[in-house]
Amino acid sequence: MHISFDAIFVGAGPASLAGALMLKRLAKSNPALSGISVAVIEKAPNLGDQSLSGATFDARALDELLPDFRDLDPPLGPRVRHESLSFLTERRRIPVPIVPPPMSNRGKYLMSLAEFVKWLGRQAEREGVEIFTGEAADELIFDSRGAVIGVRLKGKGFDKEGRPKQNALPPTDVGARVVVLGEGARGHLTKRLVAAKGLDAGCTPQGYAVGLKELWEVREDRFHKGTVINTMGWPLALDTFGGSFIYHVRDRLVAVGLVVGLDYRRGSIHPFELLQRLKEHPYVSRTLEGGRLVSYGAKTIAEGGWFAMPRPYGDGFIIAGEAAGILDAMKLKGIDLAMKSGMCAAETICEALAADDPSESMLSSYEARLKKSWVGKAMWRARNFHQGFHRGLIPGMIHAALQFVTCGRGIVRRFRVAEDALCMRKMSGRGGDSPAEFKPDNRITFDKLTCVFASGTKHEEDQPCHLKIEDISICNGICRTEYGNPCQRFCPANVFEMVEEADGVKRLHLNPANCLHCKTCDVKDPYRIVTWTPPEGGGGPNYKGM
Ligand code: SF4
Repeated sequence: MHISFDAIFVGAGPASLAGALMLKRLAKSNPALSGISVAVIEKAPNLGDQSLSGATFDARALDELLPDFRDLDPPLGPRVRHESLSFLTERRRIPVPIVPPPMSNRGKYLMSLAEFVKWLGRQAEREGVEIFTGEAADELIFDSRGAVIGVRLKGKGFDKEGRPKQNALPPTDVGARVVVLGEGARGHLTKRLVAAKGLDAGCTPQGYAVGLKELWEVREDRFHKGTVINTMGWPLALDTFGGSFIYHVRDRLVAVGLVVGLDYRRGSIHPFELLQRLKEHPYVSRTLEGGRLVSYGAKTIAEGGWFAMPRPYGDGFIIAGEAAGILDAMKLKGIDLAMKSGMCAAETICEALAADDPSESMLSSYEARLKKSWVGKAMWRARNFHQGFHRGLIPGMIHAALQFVTCGRGIVRRFRVAEDALCMRKMSGRGGDSPAEFKPDNRITFDKLTCVFASGTKHEEDQPCHLKIEDISICNGICRTEYGNPCQRFCPANVFEMVEEADGVKRLHLNPANCLHCKTCDVKDPYRIVTWTPPEGGGGPNYKGM
């Protein structure tokens, strides 16, 4: 291998950056480790360009990592001063008298994850971490015993058929004594590693939601800094898990988002259009009237919780943050937990490198460390939360209340639910689902292509398609009759389109250049034949202030 490091963190999110920074710092106080090399590899062209979250932020992990962070000009916005929870019907709002304490955000910071990641990256670089952006980690490299010994970076400059163009760069192997996978929810390397090594044996299937977010600049008189509004109900039907958020962040910027549980059953569900319909509600539209759309994006959220967490370590590797399913499903918060998991990984790697033994037995202390910390406590308290909503909002609320009074247990020790991909009902059973027509007004509501433009998404068009479909005849045949090609609806970026061809038959066409890298297709395709892989490094969304 041309290059190698003592530790490589894949994906420059809060888990990796906090972990890399802490590892360098710990190494400085250990003479046996002085001068260790630590790198972070990120597919986005610049730090933060592909980071997206709500986001309210609890600074607990940041306080532990950088106790003097307030002197370092962090891009934290205002603290939450007002918050409310409401139930929406199509035209009305019913306020919930109190925000349940476990869901409260009062006192937390409102911020842009993209800006926070840029800032945290600068702190890590100051500590000596090397950060490589615009490079997609494509594969893990194993030795003959099956231990992870590095990552293969995707080549660049290959055409649609995979032939090298002028100035093509072949894949590069980068060696590491320990690789930390911090690539976020449904990470493609993590998915393959978990399957290859059976790391999820005995686990509940990981459950996901898709979160869609728009950032708006609103009129001065519609802006209320530090206000957080959460809603349940419309535009989601009672059988679908999810809810919305409206955060008044700073400088007249308001984040509007919708989270939809991907265990939904009706193939007609169209998360993007549901977000547009949410904005038509009088309670929401009055904030946005006269404003302008600044940015748009989407991501999957790993909500399965404690029982869905795979074993997060093995020979030569650790899995951190949302890639390992680390998230407080009750609060729907993961940034502080992800950072803490990266810090637990750093402590573990420090011990392993000092002993010159990055084996599974040395790295196993990571899981114990994590579960003993406040991360473990938060996840244990929410261990059955997401699964409790599997049968819809009303049973979910009852389960949530019971879990609250039984410290997370509820009526069963452990809920068992099916994989999200298998939850969708066929149209032939219990009546078809015909999607209702939606027409954007181009003031408050828009079509997908307008929103994809707002996401700043760009890919090199002449490259091999990064979405792998095992058997496209399923899409053009049985999926049409059984599910009505739901990919056209669950994809928030119009990547999947059924296009009528010259013979009058509709067939699947892909627009991979639109892809937001949200991985919803990888999670929700009912035949499990779609696999998301990274495109050439540097391609993808370019979020502003998300
Ligand atoms: Fe998300 Fe898949 Fe659509 Fe890309 S193709 S935007 S990963 S659903």
